[in-house]
Amino acid sequence: MGPEALFARLAAPGVLGLEPYVPGKPLAELERELGIADSIKLASNENPLGPPAASLEAVRAAAGTIALYPDGAAWELKQALARKLSVKPAQITIGNGSNEILCLIAETFLSAADEGVHSRYAFLVYGLAIQATGARTVVADANPAAAEQPLGHCLDALRQAIRPATRLVFIANPNNPTGTWVEPDALRAFLASVPPTVLVVVDEAYADYRPNSVGVGTPGWIVEFPNLIVCRTFSKLYGLAGLRVGYAVSHQEVAALLNRVRQPFNVNTLAQVAALAALNATDHVQRSRTLNDAGLAFLRHGLQEFGWQVPVSAGNFLLADTGETAGTWYEALLRAGVIVRPVANYGLPRHLRITVGLPEQNERLLGALKQIRGRGGSG
Ligand SMILES: *Cc1c(COP(=O)(O)O)cnc(C)c1O
Repeated sequence: MGPEALFARLAAPGVLGLEPYVPGKPLAELERELGIADSIKLASNENPLGPPAASLEAVRAAAGTIALYPDGAAWELKQALARKLSVKPAQITIGNGSNEILCLIAETFLSAADEGVHSRYAFLVYGLAIQATGARTVVADANPAAAEQPLGHCLDALRQAIRPATRLVFIANPNNPTGTWVEPDALRAFLASVPPTVLVVVDEAYADYRPNSVGVGTPGWIVEFPNLIVCRTFSKLYGLAGLRVGYAVSHQEVAALLNRVRQPFNVNTLAQVAALAALNATDHVQRSRTLNDAGLAFLRHGLQEFGWQVPVSAGNFLLADTGETAGTWYEALLRAGVIVRPVANYGLPRHLRITVGLPEQNERLLGALKQIRGRGGSG
């Protein structure tokens, strides 16, 4: 037996069925491949304004301490988050990005006989996290393309997918890549309908963009629904994607269980101090929201004028239906130095996910599309 077949046999159950996650193409890689400069990336939902100045300052100030292990308990960051969210510090788990927390939840609560549920077109990491544990992934139908929340989560379908073997349900609110969301009242009704033996993970990576309508006060609901876990991140609105820091708020017993599986030093010192500073960077956060609101409206209008179908989004990105194979548009945009995200791996081969950039970046994208069409199309 050759090494390929041997190692494949040795892999844990579930691993062979995994498709590696394909991230947005890095700028440096595109420029290396095409020998171009000045390209832009609208592919990974990063904050185009960059990190808050206070976070950069905090990173500089802490740089001299990196010979020491980080505070594995992330005491200061948990205190600050607990105050902000009106929960107890013991309810908070800090992760190396919220991605780590999603995997930690799956590892902690799933074994081979169990099932985890997510919606079709939901963030891909849920399926990966479930499957890596050897558990079964159950995919609930999404809303139809003509629904008010096109391709978004259908809470009734998610409810119906729950069976005796179900331990976890993942809900992205808002969802990536669809940009859709569920209203707080509907989410509460869903939680009330779910058996207490099923943990409901509500991933609010983008809820910070709509603090008054999506994700309003969900951490406070844990008193009423102890099986609710709310995940958030510093990667998107807070502009710290490269440092990898996110968190979960849960019942404190759930947090204690996650803590048994968590690596002791999972979040590095610079990430902790930068996140702490970002929490207080209210000006930067507000500027980021304002820029995003204007950019969403501008891009959506421009893409619709271009002839693409683009539903409203509650995130910092849009999902555009090009009406044809999106891969050729993606490739043509790369040659124009603009990186967007094809989402065929989500089962959406006609769609592109486009992150809202700075005004000049948004204009450059629309200009590039028109040029490509002017040259005779995406091919
Ligand atoms: C980006 C994203 C995350 C993960 O972000 P981290 O950088 O790992 O914190 C989680 N969920 C959704 C829906 C996302 O889009």
